Amino acid sequence: MPPIQQLLDVQEFDLASDGLTLRLRTLPEREALQQSHARAASLDEAHSTFIERREALSHSEHGLGGEVAVVAAKAKEVEDTLYSGTVKAPKELEALQEEIRLLRERQSGLEEQEMELLEEIDRTEREIAENRAARDRTDADSKDLEAAIHKAEGEIDADLERFADQRACKTERVPAAILAEYERLRAQQRMAGRAAAPLAQGSCGGCRVKLPVLEYNRLKAEPEDALLCCVHCGRILVR
Ligand SMILES: [Zn+2]
Repeated sequence: MPPIQQLLDVQEFDLASDGLTLRLRTLPEREALQQSHARAASLDEAHSTFIERREALSHSEHGLGGEVAVVAAKAKEVEDTLYSGTVKAPKELEALQEEIRLLRERQSGLEEQEMELLEEIDRTEREIAENRAARDRTDADSKDLEAAIHKAEGEIDADLERFADQRACKTERVPAAILAEYERLRAQQRMAGRAAAPLAQGSCGGCRVKLPVLEYNRLKAEPEDALLCCVHCGRILVR
């Protein structure tokens, strides 16, 4: 087999390596991991909002508790006056009773508000707990994805290394100038990874266009290790 024929084998390894490199870059787990990280960030943002809300609610609840205590103390004070026996005039007694009624009414109104706040604090606590549980699940997902990526990377790297070794054996016999031209052409995007093509039945195996008869005869007459190129696409032709 003429040494240049090995170029097609070299290209097969290069194409296989390109495929693996692309797979390595586009592992579906990478996108899933990104989504998992985004989910974690959004959960953390929601968590901060919940914490702020809980603090604001606690603050309000604390303030209301203080107000309840003040109103209750005032009501107690008026009650003490009422039952002390120092006030005897019926009108004044009536006025004290009315004041107590109003104070107790206000107190129970405040207590109701406080109860609502406590319930809202409870709800917020539950939301915080659910949020953190979801965050833990997301972390576990991310860990699994990272492990899957790591495993795939290891396998692909091992394959790439094996291909590189096998490719090296094939390049040994290809003339250096032809190999250099192959590398140069292969770097061009329009080659789509195929810089060498077999010459079969008068056509280029790369662009599949028939060579002019004169050109074809000229190529056939060239020495075995000559660099031959397709006149249409520029690919290296391997006889
Ligand atoms: Zn061609």
